[in-house]
Amino acid sequence: MTSSIEKGIICLKHGCALCCHETRMLLTSIDVNRIVKLGYKVKSFAEKAEYGWRLKNVNGKCFFLEGNRCKIYKYRPYGCRLYPLIYDWSECKIMLDDLCPYKEEFNFQIKDVRKLIFTINLLKKNSTGSAQNFTRFSRNKFLRCARQ
Ligand code: SF4
Repeated sequence: MTSSIEKGIICLKHGCALCCHETRMLLTSIDVNRIVKLGYKVKSFAEKAEYGWRLKNVNGKCFFLEGNRCKIYKYRPYGCRLYPLIYDWSECKIMLDDLCPYKEEFNFQIKDVRKLIFTINLLKKNSTGSAQNFTRFSRNKFLRCARQ
């Protein structure tokens, strides 16, 4: 069953699309391929980032945001599906991002945490030698932090 985070119930309830503005969402290779298959050219929706690709903003908002809706909602990137669940490197923990004004309303489950680990591992795979944060990433460390 899909978790409440992925269903986007809270976002829909509040008509919120705040995190789609000035997005810096990283894209895994699976995300990029999934969106390309819809007929979009990579450079139209993504730009190079330290860890591969990230969503591109047009006039301060995600390329795919139309009004308050995502044009590719069903096919959106993993990071967008899981947000506001994030991994905070400085705190060494999985948490709900303070930037989301409705974060208190979200519940996350162990399967969401597993998906976040999966996503970060994919990003790590895409990263170059200069991506120090991700090359230092360790699954064991991540799991240890996740249990705290
Ligand atoms: S900021 Fe929070 S409530 Fe708003 S769209 Fe993003 S995840 Fe949903």
